[in-house]
Amino acid sequence: MNLILLGPPGAGKGTQAIMLTDRFGIPQISTGEILRSAVKEETPMGVKAKSFMDAGALVPDAVVIGIVLERLQKADCKPGFILDGFPRTVAQADALKDNLRDLEKDLTAVLALEVDNDALVERLTGRRTCRQCGRGYHLKFDPPRTAGQCDVCGGELYQRDDDREETIRKRMEVYDSQTTPLVDYYQQQGLLTRINGMQEISVVQEKILATLRTF
Ligand code: ADP
Ligand code: AMP
Repeated sequence: MNLILLGPPGAGKGTQAIMLTDRFGIPQISTGEILRSAVKEETPMGVKAKSFMDAGALVPDAVVIGIVLERLQKADCKPGFILDGFPRTVAQADALKDNLRDLEKDLTAVLALEVDNDALVERLTGRRTCRQCGRGYHLKFDPPRTAGQCDVCGGELYQRDDDREETIRKRMEVYDSQTTPLVDYYQQQGLLTRINGMQEISVVQEKILATLRTF
């Protein structure tokens, strides 16, 4: 199963991707997470990406496309993958299409999580992320068992720099201008399913699973 989770920052892509990974045993490929690790490790790519990420802008297509094409070659992607946060531009979607054709793979579905802007701000300002494994929590909607500590690995939870209100607004604008065209792009290819993301995490999960059962 080869899936794309599409949706604005805070729509629930990462949250749902982790659950799908556990259920189907296929990897989550989060470009945001890969970039944050590179920033933390101060690799040349991380150093280059940092200023774009801090500003809430997109990292240049060539960098992100390179990350994903390399990742898709790995053996764990053979049974499938869940792309989370990629593609975000038409150029990225075109590059993915060409690459999947070369790999003789097809996309199974593109699930577009729809959430309104006020809810996105509340979700992102309350999001806390594990410094060690990257898992996301929410202070109100998905709190960890022990405050400040990751349930999975015990790592420290922190607030991402780009999860502050000013940068959130910028990221939402970037999504509207650069990523929303992908909704039509995938609709025209008959791959798009819209999911109401304004429901509880478990309900969204059920809706996604029900959709996947139809493929
Ligand atoms: P994305 O990966 O799309 O940026 P996340 O999955 O990290 O979004 O979710 C953003 C925040 O909203 C997180 O703090 C998460 O716990 C919370 N969240 C995710 N899905 C829901 C939901 N259906 N209802 C309420 N909060 C949610
Ligand atoms: P995310 O974790 O998906 O919210 O991504 C965090 C940040 O990483 C974004 O605001 C961008 O700066 C960068 N990023 C992640 N994925 C991409 C992508 N596909 N294209 C360009 N930049 C990306």
